[in-house]
Amino acid sequence: MIKVNKQKNRIPRRTVLKLATISAGSALLQACAGSKRKSVENTLTPSDTKTSAPIKALHSTPINNEDTGPIDRNYGEIAPLKYSGEDPDRSHQILWDIPGFVSSAGAKIPDPSEKAPVVIVGGGMSGLISGYHLKKYLPIILESADRFGGNSRGESWRGIDYSIGAAYLCAPEEGTPLDKFYKELDIYRRVKSAPEDEPILFNGKMKPYFLKGDTDPAVATQGAILEKYFSDVLNEKNGKVFPELPPTTEAQKKIVKELDAVSFRDHIRKTVLASDTIHPHLDTWLEHYCWSVFGSSYRELSAAVGVNQFAGEFGKILVPPGGNSFVAEQLYSKLKKEIGNDRLRSHAMVFQVKTVDDGVWVTYERDGEVKTILAETVIFACPKYVVRKIFTDLEPGREKAIRRIRYNSYLVANVLLNQKVPDGFYDLYLLADGKVDGKDIQGTAERHRATDAINGSYAHVYGVNATNKSGSSGNNTNHSGVLTLYRAFPYLAGKAQVLSTGSYFKFRKEFIDQVENEILPGLGISKTAVVGLRIARWGHPLPVAQPGMINSGLVESLSKPYKSKVYFANQDNWLNPCIEQAFNEAHHWSGEVEKYLEAKRLEKTKQSIGADVVSKKKEGDSPKNEEPPKDNKKNESKKAE
Ligand SMILES: Cc1cc2nc3c(=O)[nH]c(=O)nc-3n(C[C@H](O)[C@H](O)[C@H](O)COP(=O)(O)OP(=O)(O)OC[C@H]3O[C@@H](n4cnc5c(N)ncnc54)[C@H](O)[C@@H]3O)c2cc1C
Repeated sequence: MIKVNKQKNRIPRRTVLKLATISAGSALLQACAGSKRKSVENTLTPSDTKTSAPIKALHSTPINNEDTGPIDRNYGEIAPLKYSGEDPDRSHQILWDIPGFVSSAGAKIPDPSEKAPVVIVGGGMSGLISGYHLKKYLPIILESADRFGGNSRGESWRGIDYSIGAAYLCAPEEGTPLDKFYKELDIYRRVKSAPEDEPILFNGKMKPYFLKGDTDPAVATQGAILEKYFSDVLNEKNGKVFPELPPTTEAQKKIVKELDAVSFRDHIRKTVLASDTIHPHLDTWLEHYCWSVFGSSYRELSAAVGVNQFAGEFGKILVPPGGNSFVAEQLYSKLKKEIGNDRLRSHAMVFQVKTVDDGVWVTYERDGEVKTILAETVIFACPKYVVRKIFTDLEPGREKAIRRIRYNSYLVANVLLNQKVPDGFYDLYLLADGKVDGKDIQGTAERHRATDAINGSYAHVYGVNATNKSGSSGNNTNHSGVLTLYRAFPYLAGKAQVLSTGSYFKFRKEFIDQVENEILPGLGISKTAVVGLRIARWGHPLPVAQPGMINSGLVESLSKPYKSKVYFANQDNWLNPCIEQAFNEAHHWSGEVEKYLEAKRLEKTKQSIGADVVSKKKEGDSPKNEEPPKDNKKNESKKAE
C-alpha cells in the first residue's frame, strides 16, 4: 500500500469494486547465545526459544473441531521456532502422489457416505464467501489446513491480533455487493483508515515526501506525473478508464486489451512517463510494490493487473484489526452459525473430484479417514495448481492454461514489540539503497529482502477496556505493538529456497538483521523493545499474471464451468491476488451455482407435479377399485339415515 500525497474524496476502487451486477535450527540460536552484542536474537531468547513446552504442534495433528477459525490465539507469549502459514508436507505427501496415497489408504475410493447440493473445495476467502452466498443450500466446505481463511489468516499476541498474510482492503463504493457484504459482516465498525500520506524508508532514513523529491529532487517530476495518471485512472477523469477485471464495458475491454499487451513497467515507462528511463528510486518503489502485492517483478507483470491494483491504492485504504483475517473470522463465525460447525470441515484434504452421472464425487482425507461426498455441484475455491492435481475430468485446454501459471513464494514476519509502533505510517515501504538491477531481480530481492513493514497493530484498540475477540490478555496492551514485514520471492528459484530444509533459521537470521540494522533505527525504536519474531511461510500463494495471459484467453479457460456441475472461484481466476477479486469470483460463480440448482429444483417440481397429475388422473380413471374417501362414507351414511 503506497499512498503518497493523496487528494481527498477520490472514489476508491480496485478491480471489481464498482461491479454491481456480475454478479530457523538451534544452531543459529546457540551461535547467538554466545554473542555479547545486544541483539534481537538475545532479546528473543526469553519468549521464542523456550521450545520445551510449545503451545501446540503446528499443523501436525488434527485440532479441536471448534477451534478452526482464521485467527490462531493459542500461542500466548511463546511460539515454537518454526513456520506457521502453510503446511507443505501434508499436501505434498498426498497430492504429489495421489495413487500412492490411495493405495496406502486401502487402494479404493470409497462410495459416497453423504450427499450435498454444494461442496466447496478450499476455505480461504473465496471458499468462505461462496459458502456465504449459498448458505441456504447448507454447503459443505472442505479446507485442508487446520484453520479456515487461506492467505487471510492471523495470529494473536498479548491480545493484539496481527495478520500473517493479507492485511488491508480498498473501500468499495457504496451500494455495491462488496459494500453490502462488508456491512452484513459489520466490518466498517472495526476498520481504521490508513493515513492519507505514507513515508518511505530510504537508506535507513524516514522520508515523508517521496514523490515530491525527498530522496532526490529529480524524483519529483516523474513522481507528479505518476500520481496524476493513477489518480485519473482511479477516478476515470481526463479520458482514463479504470481496467476492471473482468472488464464488462466495451471501453474497459479495450483498455484491458491494450494494457495486457505490455508489462506494467513498459506501460509506466512508455505511456505514463513517456521516457526511456525511470528514476532508480521510483523504479525500486514500483518493483517493491509489485513484489509485495503480486509476488512478482513489474518487469514481468501484465499492466492490466498492475494498473488495476496500483490505481486502487490511490483511494481509501481500510485496515481491520488483524488485517483481513478479521474479515475471514467475521465471515467464518457467521457462516458457522448459519450452516453449522459440521459443514465447515478443516483438516479435510480433498484429493479427488470426479464427475458422475448424478453429480460429482468429492473424496477427502480427514483425521486418517477417507470419505466421499456425492455433490450436485462443486466449487473449486482452491488454487488452480491444486485443481490440476485432483480434478480427474480436467480438459486439455484448462490443464495447459494452469501449467502456464507460475505461483511465487512469500514469507511474512511479525516482530513483537514491548512498545507501541510509532504513529505516522501504516505501510512503510523500504527502498533499501534505491537501486534495482533489472537483469538480476533475484540478486536484488536477496539483497533488499523485506519490501515493506506494516504496523500490524494499527487497528488494534488500545486502552484499559480494549479486548480482542477472544477476550484474552488484551485488556491493556498499551505497552505492546506488532510490526509485520513482507518479503516476497519474485523469482522462480524462490520456492526451492523457501521450502528447503533449514530455510526457517536462514530467513529468520535475515529478518533479524534487517530489523536490527535498517528498520528499527529508521523508526527510532530500540532493539531492546523486541521480544519475539514469528514467521509465516506461503509456498505458492500468488499467481503471476504475465503480459498476454488475459488476451490469449487463458484466463477465461481457467474459470469456465465444467458441465454446469463444477465451478471455479479463486483469486487466481484473474491472476489478481486481492480480496476484491476473491469476492467477485465467489459472488459471480455462486450466483451461477444457485441458478443451476434452482433450475434443477424447478425441473424436479415440474416432474413431480406431472407425476402427481398423472397419478391423480389414474385415480380418477379407476374409482371402483378404491375405497371412497372417509368424508364421502360419512355423507353416504348420513344420506342413509
Ligand atoms: C503474504 C500475502 C499478503 C497479502 N496481502 C493482501 C492484502 O493486504 N489485501 C488483499 O486484498 N489481498 C492480499 N493478499 C491476497 C490474498 O491471497 C487474497 O486477498 C485472498 O485471501 C485469496 O483468497 P482465496 O480464497 O482466493 O485463496 P486462498 O487464500 O489461497 O485459499 C485457498 C484455500 O484452499 C485450500 N486448499 C488448497 N488445496 C486444498 C485441498 N486439496 N483440499 C481442501 N482445501 C484446499 C487452502 O488451504 C486455502 O485455504 C495477500 C496474499 C499474501 C500471500
